[in-house]
Amino acid sequence: MKSLQQLCRPNIWSLSPYSSARNEYSGHTAHVFLDANENPYNAPLNRYPDPLQQEVKNKLEKIKGIPASNIFLGNGSDEAIDLPYRIFCEPKIDNVVAIEPTYGMYKVCADINNVEYRPVLLDDNFQTTSEKLLGACDEHTKLIWICSPNNPTGNLIHRETILSVIDRFEGIVIVDEAYSDFSSEQPLRARLGKYPNLIVLNTMSKAWGMAAIRMGMAFASEEIIGLFNKVKYPYNINQLAQEQALEALNDPFGVDEWVRLLLRERGRVMTAFRELPICTKVYPTEANFFLACMTDAQTIYDYLVSKGIIVRNRTHVALCGNCLRVTVGKKGENNELLAALRQYQV
Ligand SMILES: *Cc1c(COP(=O)(O)O)cnc(C)c1O
Repeated sequence: MKSLQQLCRPNIWSLSPYSSARNEYSGHTAHVFLDANENPYNAPLNRYPDPLQQEVKNKLEKIKGIPASNIFLGNGSDEAIDLPYRIFCEPKIDNVVAIEPTYGMYKVCADINNVEYRPVLLDDNFQTTSEKLLGACDEHTKLIWICSPNNPTGNLIHRETILSVIDRFEGIVIVDEAYSDFSSEQPLRARLGKYPNLIVLNTMSKAWGMAAIRMGMAFASEEIIGLFNKVKYPYNINQLAQEQALEALNDPFGVDEWVRLLLRERGRVMTAFRELPICTKVYPTEANFFLACMTDAQTIYDYLVSKGIIVRNRTHVALCGNCLRVTVGKKGENNELLAALRQYQV
């Protein structure tokens, strides 16, 4: 790996970050707060929130098995996806490599930041090799994006492939594990300590059922987390989101039960799809959704919309011609979907 300073944009490396009122007093006990030009009325919403979300991170430390100092919290994974571009990638000079097809935000953030995005097509089994990914890199490649389980394909990228990329790449590898709670494989974050060039992403939006509060996380070395904290908006996670996250993290047992239910439903719905005459293939999955190849994805998608049922039409995505991506819902919702598809007249 190159040094972090070699990888980081020089303006970010030398940046003096904004120092908020709440940053500067921290560590002391106090009861009169006249430092932040807040309104003394309308408690508790009158106060700025903890800029580093220490309480939430302390809870996550226990649940995720990652020290709080190795955690960054973002306004959704969206923020944790955007920040590496702003930290590491010089617009119009640097580039990033990613598997294709994959989650669309990696490319959107590349485009917004004016950074070249180099997609590397997966094979027919939705796998890749470290040779292919590293072969797409040059001296200006700063980031490699690997989503596993991958969206929209649902499969895990082979762990040996990912580890080989991390071992051999000079830059930063970002592995998005948004769906790891639904997967049978041990999450990669458990091995973070071994890899200084690894960033693992997680989110509260999927297994935790909290997409509304917008909270994503990045796990990485303290040095990389320090760069994230330098560049993020000072109060990027609002007080209400922090409180709701704490409440959920205090009772993580509901999540295990949801995952069990969803995995059982996933098996049932996939079996039913395989029996549909209009379904030609159901791909294996390790996530809370699956990819299904249909006789005519666009027409079936439109038909479902007319019945008030929305799935994701992925037919224009590479390797996903005539594919629908189906999220596993509650039993009743899944049954409505299946009933509509059984009624569908070719
Ligand atoms: C859904 C999803 C996320 C979650 O994004 P948030 O901004 O945290 O809601 C992240 N990565 C992938 C691949 C996803 O599919």
